[in-house]
Amino acid sequence: MIHTFTSELLSKKQLTDNTHLFSFSCPEDFTFKAGQFVSICFEIDGKKHMRSYSILNPPSQKSKLDFVVQLIPGGTASKEFAKINIGDKFEMKGSFGHFTFVDNSDDNWFLATGTGVAPLYSMIKENISSGKKFTLVFGVRFEENLFLHEELLALAKKHENFIYIPTLSQGVWDGAMGRFQKHLPENLSGKTFYICGIKEVVMETKELLSSKGVTKEYIKFERYS
Ligand SMILES: Cc1cc2nc3c(=O)[nH]c(=O)nc-3n(C[C@H](O)[C@H](O)[C@H](O)COP(=O)(O)OP(=O)(O)OC[C@H]3O[C@@H](n4cnc5c(N)ncnc54)[C@H](O)[C@@H]3O)c2cc1C
Repeated sequence: MIHTFTSELLSKKQLTDNTHLFSFSCPEDFTFKAGQFVSICFEIDGKKHMRSYSILNPPSQKSKLDFVVQLIPGGTASKEFAKINIGDKFEMKGSFGHFTFVDNSDDNWFLATGTGVAPLYSMIKENISSGKKFTLVFGVRFEENLFLHEELLALAKKHENFIYIPTLSQGVWDGAMGRFQKHLPENLSGKTFYICGIKEVVMETKELLSSKGVTKEYIKFERYS
């Protein structure tokens, strides 16, 4: 069911140079599935601008609505996010989206670039206790662009069925390097892939998996641009 509701900014935290965590109040009767998003309304000079944001927290922890937002230089919503204050209220609509956990495999691969990690984080957190295998390949450019890193490391330490592979496309460190497609498993059969991030990377990865014989019921994706 789609709700329209007013939500208040409870807290904000800068995670990297351009990525911020915003926590909003969540109405008691609002429901969502892990992986879904809401549409936030920004009213500027009397004109409404709607933008979509994936819910970071899993539905089982819905005392608030967390969003990780990458501020795009000159972006309409980005400029508003850059100046919002605790207590500011926004109209929101949701929940939307079919990018949710389909639970059709014991071996689940999550592939994200940037803030595309948000719906995957929610799905992993919500389902990790099932004992099924979850692998997250999280691609960013430089080490300083990694966020949720400590949380994900702690999650991997706590759950042996969760493997976390942060990977940098640039820079130097002792972890995984190169584009995240490089870290796909050799044997793709029997696995379900969830891909989220900017359009080019999502489409390229989806096509790569298809070309290697993965059929569409095993490739779930969401594009942010
Ligand atoms: C289903 C869905 C879920 C989303 N969830 C999130 C989320 O959780 N976190 C998040 O940060 N964003 C998310 N987005 C993207 C978000 O909705 C906005 O598009 C983004 O915040 C830019 O909005 P803006 O108004 O600041 O920029 P706009 O004014 O709309 O665009 C400004 C310029 O930036 C370009 N641009 C837009 N988005 C990007 C991008 N991602 N990277 C590079 N250039 C871009 C546009 O093409 C345009 O040229 C999601 C999008 C969808 C469709």
